[in-house]
Amino acid sequence: MCDAGVVIVGAGQAGATLATGLAQAGYDGPITLIGEEPYAPYQRPPLSKGFVNGDVGVDELLIKPEAYYAQKHIQLIKGRRVHAIQAHARSVQLDEGEQLNYRSLVLCTGSRPRVLPIKSAELNRVFSLRNIDDARAIAGALPEQGRLVIIGAGYVGLELAASCVTQGRHVTVLERAGRVMERSASPQVSEHYRAMHEAAGVNIVCDVNLVELQGGQQVTAVCAGDGRCWPADVVVIGVGAVANMELAQAAGLQCDDGILVDAQCRSSDPHIYAAGDCARQTHALLQTSLRLESVQNATAQARMIVAHIMNKAPLRSEVPWFWSDQFDTRLQIAGIVQPNHTSILRGDPASGSFTMLHVQGDRLQALEAINRPADFTLGRKLISEQLEVNIQWLKDEDIPLYLRD
Ligand SMILES: Cc1cc2nc3c(=O)[nH]c(=O)nc-3n(C[C@H](O)[C@H](O)[C@H](O)COP(=O)(O)OP(=O)(O)OC[C@H]3O[C@@H](n4cnc5c(N)ncnc54)[C@H](O)[C@@H]3O)c2cc1C
Repeated sequence: MCDAGVVIVGAGQAGATLATGLAQAGYDGPITLIGEEPYAPYQRPPLSKGFVNGDVGVDELLIKPEAYYAQKHIQLIKGRRVHAIQAHARSVQLDEGEQLNYRSLVLCTGSRPRVLPIKSAELNRVFSLRNIDDARAIAGALPEQGRLVIIGAGYVGLELAASCVTQGRHVTVLERAGRVMERSASPQVSEHYRAMHEAAGVNIVCDVNLVELQGGQQVTAVCAGDGRCWPADVVVIGVGAVANMELAQAAGLQCDDGILVDAQCRSSDPHIYAAGDCARQTHALLQTSLRLESVQNATAQARMIVAHIMNKAPLRSEVPWFWSDQFDTRLQIAGIVQPNHTSILRGDPASGSFTMLHVQGDRLQALEAINRPADFTLGRKLISEQLEVNIQWLKDEDIPLYLRD
């Protein structure tokens, strides 16, 4: 066994940001990045957008060209899974049995699609969408004018719906909740997106209790408890994701819907960190524990760990933010939208460009900007600095959201 310096498990968004960040910061030991997928680290957001309809190729997904890792002396081990952590010995065990020692271990294992407990979910042509192979399988299985049924009206489901309806497919989205994107968007924004999808030809059905998939070997329909069925050539299940935390749990790390980490992303073991979709962190700014699934969160947490390993000043938590592209509309959300906020509309939804601002007392807590990048950027500053706001000014489109620059 040799000293492996920093070992990173999971070669995705957080793992790649961390490995390249350490190399750029001049880390003095070996950096090993281990991923179970056969690809160099890549971005997932285009999978439900340009990649699934063939506009974007694999090379364009890569976070860095593959040769970059060797140039920076990062050992990238692809197609291999870490099976176990021996925390007492500070080593990890790979799938073929060999062990790697570490000075610091970082778990960037991401999340996986939640399994929907529905009858006959194992039929052919039933997919979820998490990786390149999933996106290729969906695109390959869907006939040109085929019928796609998407279960779940979250971001991934709606982005896929937008991509596929634009390609001439017949798309139905079935959602158990009363509105689309219920978990993270306000009712006003949900309504806007529902109308936008329906105008493009997507059939959206909410409040539906699905009980079974039907078909012989291959799925042919999705059916609800009240007897309604929707014919399908392909079904994609997009009902959220669960943290890949089993490795951490087996090693005795504290977990609770995510690997629990402190403000610097340290787990309950002093030599092990966690970042990205698999981590649950107490957010310093929002004073609550969150497990976020976004590129921004994965990269911000990876940078926190770089700072900590390199003995730099701790990085402050940023206001969480997220984007979703559907049709030609970009939604940018900053902060966490909560039902107890007072919501303020800025702009006219009928114009296709507006912002919902969510205020508590006289402070802005969250915003949803639809095709409004300037509101997003300035509003984020307002949330971050927790400056006092005037509701009449927030509504007035002639006044920029942030006036101090
Ligand atoms: C279709 C889709 C669209 C998205 N769109 C957006 C968007 O528009 N905006 C946005 O902000 N976010 C979006 N996201 C979310 C974003 O991609 C994730 O939040 C981000 O990739 C998380 O990074 P991560 O490093 O934590 O996990 P990942 O990027 O998922 O990487 C984790 C990696 O670890 C590997 N792994 C797990 N266990 C092991 C093990 N034991 N050994 C070896 N390897 C292991 C996994 O196979 C995976 O490759 C989207 C996600 C999907 C799936």
